[in-house]
Amino acid sequence: MSLLDLPELTLDCILEKLSASELCAMSCVSSELREKCVSDHFWKKHMEKKWSRLMGDAAIKEWKSHVSTLMSCVSNSNQSRTQWSWSSRIVANLNPFSWLTSNHGCCSDVSLAPVDSLMYWYSNLENGKFWFPAQVYNRENGHVGFMMSCYDAKIRYDYKTDTFQARYSAHGRRAAEEKVTWQRLRPSLVEAGSRDLHVSDCLDGLCPGDHFEIQWRRTKEFPYGWWYGIVGHLQYCEGENNCNCHDDENVVMEFRQFRLESPWRTTVINRKNHRETGNEENGFYGGVKKLGTEEEISTWKQLWPPQTLE
Ligand SMILES: [Zn+2]
Repeated sequence: MSLLDLPELTLDCILEKLSASELCAMSCVSSELREKCVSDHFWKKHMEKKWSRLMGDAAIKEWKSHVSTLMSCVSNSNQSRTQWSWSSRIVANLNPFSWLTSNHGCCSDVSLAPVDSLMYWYSNLENGKFWFPAQVYNRENGHVGFMMSCYDAKIRYDYKTDTFQARYSAHGRRAAEEKVTWQRLRPSLVEAGSRDLHVSDCLDGLCPGDHFEIQWRRTKEFPYGWWYGIVGHLQYCEGENNCNCHDDENVVMEFRQFRLESPWRTTVINRKNHRETGNEENGFYGGVKKLGTEEEISTWKQLWPPQTLE
């Protein structure tokens, strides 16, 4: 009895249980099985499980634009395809499907998936062909100048090490890094470019002890990074029990990864008219986001440097 003789629902149940690489291997068995196995229905779960954590709006937007470029290239080069539409399912060769051949040794010749399919997207992520926007904590492998910050980067996956390669935008020098772990990554949001000033809408409500992220850049030529901090007390504050800091027009932003004497340990910003403050010596402080969830805060705490910074 052939697998294809099974009732359709039974076969679907089997395919649903396969891992991504098994599903790929199955798609190489025959054209009937390929047609089934490339279906988004089976790939949705795999995409969500492995990639949804990093596919932020910016990465999704970039992938969609890549797909539509591919599709318009194909349709332009093939004028006879006058009835072209998304549903015509232009097919791309996934070869070399390196992450798969290492597991199964098959698919060395043909593995085809529609360009607009989840399988194609998944395979491009998996084999590192798709560089996508994300943010990296403690960039450049915990370089002392970037501890407790998160910067925009373009990253791509390396399936052999289950880590990422990252490229950073840097003024006047090349900055890249290998072997970035999953724990040091978060998705990039489409609305904020790394040179756009974030509009702070949380300043009025900030109280001592609140956790926040603030944009900071070394000079105006550099992109912003997001820096983690905790709201502190004003200099003349009498302490926890008699504190009126939340009523003051100024708010103290503390960066406790730095030593008390460090010029980066604290900065004071005005709640009412803050946009960007600072100078060429100590850098410029931009928009502020208050951290809302325990998860955000604990992620930062796990990145804490072993020693206090100068
Ligand atoms: Zn206070």
